[in-house]
Amino acid sequence: MSVAQNINYFREKLKGSSCKLIAVSKTQPVEAILEAYQAGQRVFGENKVQELAAKYEALPKDIEWHLIGHLQTNKVKYIASFVHIIQSVDSLRLLEEINKQAGKVNRVQDCLLQIYIAEEESKFGLSLPEAITLLSSPEFEALAHVRITGVMGIATNTNEENQLRKEFRALKTGFQQLKQQFFANQDSFREISMGMSSDFELAIEEGSTMVRVGSSIFGARNYNVQ
Ligand SMILES: *Cc1c(COP(=O)(O)O)cnc(C)c1O
Repeated sequence: MSVAQNINYFREKLKGSSCKLIAVSKTQPVEAILEAYQAGQRVFGENKVQELAAKYEALPKDIEWHLIGHLQTNKVKYIASFVHIIQSVDSLRLLEEINKQAGKVNRVQDCLLQIYIAEEESKFGLSLPEAITLLSSPEFEALAHVRITGVMGIATNTNEENQLRKEFRALKTGFQQLKQQFFANQDSFREISMGMSSDFELAIEEGSTMVRVGSSIFGARNYNVQ
């Protein structure tokens, strides 16, 4: 299957749902991204700052770029002028730097809080209590150039359906709790980014609003395509 065919497959799959496709193009050449673009895809995800910035320069400017990988504070400045959503915010310190860089270019940067849901040990992501502490802090309150529009989570790398559902449900419950406590009247807090190539269907059933799909679109193994 070609990249274009895979894009069409996912478009059909998501039709009628409120879930959006983030085409994860990390490690893929500009040509492959252009093929997806020509098939109508406008939203792409990258996990490395340098790669994201280079692709932004090389590709059409109506692409919505999402950063989905860990972000170091000293690299925020390279993407602050254009990145659509930073999905991987996992500390107040990072959020403060994003606020500073977004301020310099007169933007309000949309961000998701990355919440830790997997069973396996992970270096990145906030626990729900940590997210609550962050959102309750006066330091966060003072940030005028960031807007939190939801949460992102990476499930355990497993085929265990029960485990995956449990983790997706935990993210959704966490989202609802944060919504109620901090964003009750804000329609902009609405994103639950969860689900990848191997588990996107479960994630959608559990309430995902953004699936991040890489290998099933760009990779050699198109195992989601019959
Ligand atoms: C690479 C990546 C994906 C996509 O993974 P696939 O299994 O290739 O679909 C999704 N989310 C994050 C955070 C990633 O780093």
